[in-house]
Amino acid sequence: MKIFIAADLEGATGVVHHDQLMPEGRGYAAAQRLLTADVNAAIEGVLRVSPSSTFVVGDGHGPMRNIILEELHDAAELVIGSAKPQNKPLCQLQGIDESFDLACMVGYHSKAGTPSGLLAHTYIGSLVREWRLNGMAVGEVQMNAAVLGSFGVPVGLIVGNSDLEPEVRAWDRNVEFVSTKRTLGPTAAICATPGRTHSLIADAAAKVVSQNIHADLYNIGHTRIEVDTYRREQCDKASSVPGITTSGEFTIVAEADTAAKAFQLMWSACTRALDETPSWLA
Ligand SMILES: [Zn+2]
Repeated sequence: MKIFIAADLEGATGVVHHDQLMPEGRGYAAAQRLLTADVNAAIEGVLRVSPSSTFVVGDGHGPMRNIILEELHDAAELVIGSAKPQNKPLCQLQGIDESFDLACMVGYHSKAGTPSGLLAHTYIGSLVREWRLNGMAVGEVQMNAAVLGSFGVPVGLIVGNSDLEPEVRAWDRNVEFVSTKRTLGPTAAICATPGRTHSLIADAAAKVVSQNIHADLYNIGHTRIEVDTYRREQCDKASSVPGITTSGEFTIVAEADTAAKAFQLMWSACTRALDETPSWLA
């Protein structure tokens, strides 16, 4: 099998605080190792039942240079580098195409506005108050699933914080979900050890592949994405991207015949909306 693994950091084993999320934070180096090991656990689980599988891992958090290449399983290739649209129009999913059989998302978190959500946000915390997909408020996992669906790739496994699970179940009852920690609030959780989470992740990945997937393809066809921003200036800047429209003073709108095309348009608009290029997008 050919498998795409989208990786984020906020939902990785042991990660609960902002000081673990960016290179200047004192917990960052440890968080890099924890995320790399979570991804390896998913790969090892798949290889248990499908030994010839190959993987592309998309490093999808912040600077997108988090996963430690020399510690990553040799069955994988790693997509490394900034999410600026010239590099990665598909952001966390750059590298996906129709040749993949299955996708997993590892290290994920709940959407912006989740009450007491652990490190909850949607793509860009300073910009996105709410992200709607065909009218429904969604987080990164559901948006990514729709983009993957437009390439014909179903999602079999999601690994992340416990408060993400209800968000996932609102649109997919069949996907395997592994919780790395039990959320207490925005910056605290009861964390399982890596030894424990890695066996849960590997078992779930093996199960998804051995059952030959009940993963549902989430192909929604015509897609309208609306993003409520925090400030009118953000909305104004975003609307300078050709194809982007606005609705009211704060809302950016992208529409296309597939989720992937609508997302690319919206990602360009979101990055345009930022005042200055943040260090993680340079
Ligand atoms: Zn992240």
